[in-house]
Amino acid sequence: MDYKGQPAGNPPPPPPPGYSQPPPQYGQHSTTVITAGMPVVAHCFRETSVPMQCPYCHANITTTTTYETGTLTWVICGVLILFGLWLGCCLIPFCIDGCKDVIHSCPNCHQTVGKFNRM
Ligand SMILES: [Zn+2]
Repeated sequence: MDYKGQPAGNPPPPPPPGYSQPPPQYGQHSTTVITAGMPVVAHCFRETSVPMQCPYCHANITTTTTYETGTLTWVICGVLILFGLWLGCCLIPFCIDGCKDVIHSCPNCHQTVGKFNRM
């Protein structure tokens, strides 16, 4: 038999077993993690507008804030009633933005992108 001139007594050394296999598995694993842990949130919404990328239209925006009656508004209303301030005073928290939740919306596509809940 002719081995094309290659010396039969000097085969190339085989790769060490167990060394070349783990990297592909690790790569697939990390890729899966990145895909699963995608964009979700990470934004901390407060009372003021925040710059962010809209998850709906992907534009770089500064959120538009609107105030909405939230849990804290009703809690303060209830507390005022308990203290006897029910003659219209219990409606005060509904007029104070500081007692309300803040809704952050996108000025570009008008989708709600976040909410600041005071409770
Ligand atoms: Zn948008």
